[in-house]
Amino acid sequence: MRRSRSFIPTSKEAPSDATLPSHQFLIRGGFINSQGAGLYNFMPLGKIVLDKIRTIVKEELDEAGCSEVQLSFVTPIGLWDRSGRSETMGKEMLRIRDRHTNEFVLSPTNEEAMVELVKNRVNSYKDLPVNLYQINTKFRDEARPRYGLLRGREFLMKDGYSFHSCTEDMVREFNLMEETYKKIFTRLGLDFRVVEADSGAIGGTGSKEFHVLANSGEDTLVVCEECDYGANVETIFDEEQVDAYNEKSYEELRELKIDKKCSCGADLHFKKGIEVGHIFQLGTKYSAALEANFNDENGKPRPFEMATFGIGVSRLVAAVIEQNHDKDGCIWTKETAPYLVNIILSNIKDEEQVTLAEELYLKFLGEDIEVMFDDRKDRFGFKMKDAELIGYPYTVIIGKELANGLVQIYDRKTKEKTSVKAGDIFGKVMELI
Ligand code: ATP
Ligand code: MG
Repeated sequence: MRRSRSFIPTSKEAPSDATLPSHQFLIRGGFINSQGAGLYNFMPLGKIVLDKIRTIVKEELDEAGCSEVQLSFVTPIGLWDRSGRSETMGKEMLRIRDRHTNEFVLSPTNEEAMVELVKNRVNSYKDLPVNLYQINTKFRDEARPRYGLLRGREFLMKDGYSFHSCTEDMVREFNLMEETYKKIFTRLGLDFRVVEADSGAIGGTGSKEFHVLANSGEDTLVVCEECDYGANVETIFDEEQVDAYNEKSYEELRELKIDKKCSCGADLHFKKGIEVGHIFQLGTKYSAALEANFNDENGKPRPFEMATFGIGVSRLVAAVIEQNHDKDGCIWTKETAPYLVNIILSNIKDEEQVTLAEELYLKFLGEDIEVMFDDRKDRFGFKMKDAELIGYPYTVIIGKELANGLVQIYDRKTKEKTSVKAGDIFGKVMELI
């Protein structure tokens, strides 16, 4: 992409409600813009990142044997009446009426609709298990939409639902999804923890959350530094204590000692996390309420055993940046970067620089490398600041030094500039990416 042709409206200032780095940099970097409280537009750069994350999620789920579907976003209220959630979901569920005054809901989640889809279409134990997922818009009228994409009202979620003939098979799928989620977050280049979450009546390991570790996280976790045990404080302390911990900053929490030890014997520590995934053993809660049955080996009708699996796809865009940024802007991981390589042409009037930059740009394109070419008229310093704000992993600087046969590679993460012979630059970049 030529920067001169692109639509990337970067800015020096962030709106005053943007208190977190991800919120500030995603707006300033021209990735997203706000259309109202908790409502965001994805501009070209934001859309590329969102789609990259979506693709990784899809690839790993398909590999694990799940099937993608897409349910309608608007759901009739009747579905929610039958499960009882039109009462219990409260004000987070946004209701609308059509011209015939029929009532609908903008889906905050889709357990009911997915059960309804499978009901009477999967009739025998022989057709089980089934794991269906979608990557689709959700709407939750959050009491406090804030922190940009981290807590929106309209957001993109991957929600999956699995159907089984017995508890053992459901637990097997639950474990498979835990492993699959770990692969997804590892591929995204994130430092994350799987923690025990509050699972109400189900207890034990029936609910696990995946948290990206970041000081700004809204959730407080207790983690072992020796083994991989971790738990959301919600599973350990009462509500008042949980609220008190969640109010504390990471720095304040770090000073606190935890009486309990991990079962491995090591000390436990507090961490802050951003919840990016949640897997949950549902049992027959929804299938029984909606009378969704299959026939078992003896021809006896029984409700499906179910589990549900969520990933905050748009929240992940912000979580990557909460974990990877500095004072100058975003630092994308290789798998999430909107473009892996950026070429800065320092002086568009210098023929030698122009020739090399154009050649290099075409060479990268020829190898299917995601490359941005900053061919604008602006000053070098301006282009460099722009590159830092946007956060391309590598920037090739074609400038004055070319007179001596040299160009530079700038590594966004380490901020190191390395001089390379102009003739070697292509190979050098290909080694790095
Ligand atoms: P939270 O405690 O953060 O409100 P939740 O428990 O309501 O999350 P789930 O219902 O399990 O979330 O939804 C699955 C995933 O969707 C979450 O793990 C999270 O990553 C994402 N998510 C939930 N609410 C939002 C939101 N308002 N904006 C963006 N992503 C969200
Ligand atoms: Mg919530």
